[in-house]
Amino acid sequence: MQWLRQRVEAVVDVRGTSDAARLGRWLLALQGLLVAATGWWVAGADRASLSSAVLGVLTAGCATATTWLPWDRWRTRMLVVYPAAGLVMLAVLGTVAPSVGSAYTGFLTLWFMYVGLVGRVHAGLLLMLPAAGVWVVLQGSLGPEKIVRLALAGLVWGVLAEVLALATSASKVRTEGLAHQAETDPLTGLPNRRALEASMSRLSGGDVVVVVDLDHFKQVNDGGGHAFGDQVLVDFAQTLSGCVRGSDLVARYGGEEFVLVLPQVSSHGLGAASVMARLRGQWSLLHPDITWSAGVSCHEQGNEPRTTLREADRALYRAKAAGRDRVVAASEARELVGVATADRG
Ligand code: GH3
Ligand code: MG
Ligand code: MG
Repeated sequence: MQWLRQRVEAVVDVRGTSDAARLGRWLLALQGLLVAATGWWVAGADRASLSSAVLGVLTAGCATATTWLPWDRWRTRMLVVYPAAGLVMLAVLGTVAPSVGSAYTGFLTLWFMYVGLVGRVHAGLLLMLPAAGVWVVLQGSLGPEKIVRLALAGLVWGVLAEVLALATSASKVRTEGLAHQAETDPLTGLPNRRALEASMSRLSGGDVVVVVDLDHFKQVNDGGGHAFGDQVLVDFAQTLSGCVRGSDLVARYGGEEFVLVLPQVSSHGLGAASVMARLRGQWSLLHPDITWSAGVSCHEQGNEPRTTLREADRALYRAKAAGRDRVVAASEARELVGVATADRG
């Protein structure tokens, strides 16, 4: 069951961003107007008034529901709720307004479903098949005129769904770009403090946190200029990234302070020590005159991630106080990262 759910989720990739909901709301409102206007034109004022009113109310209902549904919490449930709600609506519309309303029922269903399936328009288009099927059943018979009407409705659905897909994917790209920018340090390209804090919340027992700080960086700036200082930061960021595994996180925490999160580095923490040793070796080749200090802490299950970071920071402070250019482990991590402790030269 779990397997099936994951498969289905992967295929339709349900996303409920507020952007999509906002866009969906406007499109539904637009659609309500369109349905009312064309209904009037196709069926004449008398017959159209009831179906237009029903459609208008249902459209407004869908728009409201779309706005209020807890998208993020209901990701999986939406897979059932959306198609089911769509089919119920289809049945209601087909019964209440068979003349004009039924021509638009699939249309409405598609929008309603589509907003829930944003980003995967083709999954949305697939839903047109059951929608069309239900429409045909509601019609009772299928003459040439109805086939033409169905084909035209399908064409309109398809074109509108594609336009909507383009619009939402553009807005999604923009939103994701902004989110990426907000979590990236512009100088080094590393994740910034905000990104780090988000990842830290997922720390588990045995993960190692290292705070690394360049020594006397003010003097580096004073001696070589601010641009040189910037270049040193970029070099340090690249060296750090080159010393860790793909699953590790390197972030720029502040000015010349970086944080490494090393998930589950070997059972005895030796991985952290080897990262430090690699960093020492590689950095001394690049900038032999500029040293760094580090504080290491091992996260204990049940502790606040903030506490682990603070302990690493305190260890860093001790490394600075003891003369810099060294790695100091927080007390409870000392055994775990024994090799790294007071590792000098
Ligand atoms: P310590 O060994 O105790 O860490 O001394 P320090 O001089 O490295 O530390 P301090 O915190 O006194 O100074 C950090 C300096 O880093 C001061 C600030 O001008 C510089 N800095 C912070 N961000 C940047 C940056 O983006 N580019 C450059 N070039 N310098 C920066
Ligand atoms: Mg410093
Ligand atoms: Mg500092």
